[in-house]
Amino acid sequence: IEEINYLAITDEGTDLYNQRYFYKRLNRLFSYAKKNNKPLSVVIFDIDNFKSLNDSYGHLFGDKVLREVASLLQDNIRKNDILARYGGEEFALILPKTGASIAYNIAERIRCIVNKHIFETGGGHKIKISISGGIATYPECKVSKAIELIDLADKALYKSKDDGKNMINSVR
Ligand code: C2E
Ligand code: C2E
Repeated sequence: IEEINYLAITDEGTDLYNQRYFYKRLNRLFSYAKKNNKPLSVVIFDIDNFKSLNDSYGHLFGDKVLREVASLLQDNIRKNDILARYGGEEFALILPKTGASIAYNIAERIRCIVNKHIFETGGGHKIKISISGGIATYPECKVSKAIELIDLADKALYKSKDDGKNMINSVR
């Protein structure tokens, strides 16, 4: 039963939580935040230029980048923070009881850590990559449903991409 449960909530490629489990936790944590008047931040990170990494160095390398980025993120957040694989090359992070400015500092810290990391390709090249991020915070964002927070974080992420990537934006 434990094994079945693990498989049900885990993303195979990265060993992080999967999207379904992320939504479940976010809904609960959002209800808690509303009820208890606590802030809650959601961060969505996306690996910049992931498709061209795959094209240049192959899918095996792409998979390795996903796993290494997942570890870098997981190793640099607290146990109470919830990190999940959100989509192809997207990661989502729930920061319970965390307001907008601290969330920004945390996301920036993570962006810099990834940006400094050296990835080794199958062909022996050493390369660097970057990630972009978008943040939405309750109650600064006056949303009534958790899913709206994700939409806003996504919008902030698009702005980071539009403004040149390798940066973090929060919705104001
Ligand atoms: P943890 O709380 O699970 O945090 C895991 C990692 O997330 C930390 O690894 C660090 O890389 C990052 N991190 C978490 N909170 C912060 C923070 O406030 N600022 C920064 N810059 N990074 C943060 P690290 O540093 O190797 O710490 C490993 C574990 O040691 C932590 O696990 C925590 O259990 C404990 N720890 C380290 N420093 C402190 C501290 O100042 N106070 C407390 N209460 N525990 C600490
Ligand atoms: P800091 O790194 O500037 O973090 C300031 C505050 O941001 C922390 O206050 C905490 O409220 C929040 N914060 C930072 N990183 C994280 C995170 O990964 N997850 C969550 N949920 N919150 C985070 P706090 O706890 O009073 O810590 C004060 C300072 O103590 C931190 O300043 C940092 O310099 C140090 N510190 C605390 N825990 C750790 C740790 O696990 N690892 C490291 N390296 N430093 C830590």
